[in-house]
Amino acid sequence: MDKLIKSIATSGSFRAYVLDSTETVRTAQEKHQTLSSSTVALGRTLIANQILAANQKGDSKITVKVIGDSSFGHIISVADTKGHVKGYIQNTGVDIKKTATGEVLVGPFMGNGHFVSIIDYGTGNPYTSTTPLISGEIGEDFAYYLTESEQTPSAVGLNVLLDENDKVKVAGGFMLQVLPGASEEEITRYEKRIQEMPAISTLLESDNHTQALLEAIYGDDDYKVLSEEEIGFACDCSRERFEGALITLGKAELEAMAKEDHGAEITCQFCGNHYNFTETDLEDLIND
Ligand SMILES: [Zn+2]
Repeated sequence: MDKLIKSIATSGSFRAYVLDSTETVRTAQEKHQTLSSSTVALGRTLIANQILAANQKGDSKITVKVIGDSSFGHIISVADTKGHVKGYIQNTGVDIKKTATGEVLVGPFMGNGHFVSIIDYGTGNPYTSTTPLISGEIGEDFAYYLTESEQTPSAVGLNVLLDENDKVKVAGGFMLQVLPGASEEEITRYEKRIQEMPAISTLLESDNHTQALLEAIYGDDDYKVLSEEEIGFACDCSRERFEGALITLGKAELEAMAKEDHGAEITCQFCGNHYNFTETDLEDLIND
């Protein structure tokens, strides 16, 4: 299981989340068989959603859509407040690296578009918020979303590092937020520290990267850990759920599927699980 640590400065002026999302992104890559750039883009979106979900109270569902007009297509992720996240990317096959350094490229293949969040508190009135993509690198777009949409000045760093075979080596990140009552002097001190901290990729390479992130964020300032929560990739799809979806197609459509196609195979786009419905299964649904 991965983990998300919530912390607060002893002064009460700042709070930070740090995450290890390695297994989450590794599972996503295995399920969707994504190539390098698609893995990093999907992984960053999942991490952003894990942060956003940790920020919600109660039993809510949080959808993040990163919608660009270039190679990746849409990236869709859904999280809950129990630490589960799932997601997919339309184009799993983007695989572009800088020749000289091997750095996996993301931003140039996102294009123009939007960062969209939909928060559903179960009231039937989901709260939707949209901000433009500013770089397509997702971390910066997410920080811009937090600052603009949630009106909370935030610094975000998140990334996915791949090994020589383009498998996930490590994934994670942080979010730092200014709380009401922070003094100008404190804000300046934290800003300077964030600007001067090592690159997120360097911190993720540390043996214990969540600890390294906390130390880089707080420096000499005292802080305390508020909680440590388990997070991970999980899909809530089931045969029953897809039966429900089939029923909504209506009797005529189901009869056509039974008689002409002799069954149906449905693949969950979030996790790739297959559900097979035979001709008899479909007839049972029609008769029900
Ligand atoms: Zn699924």
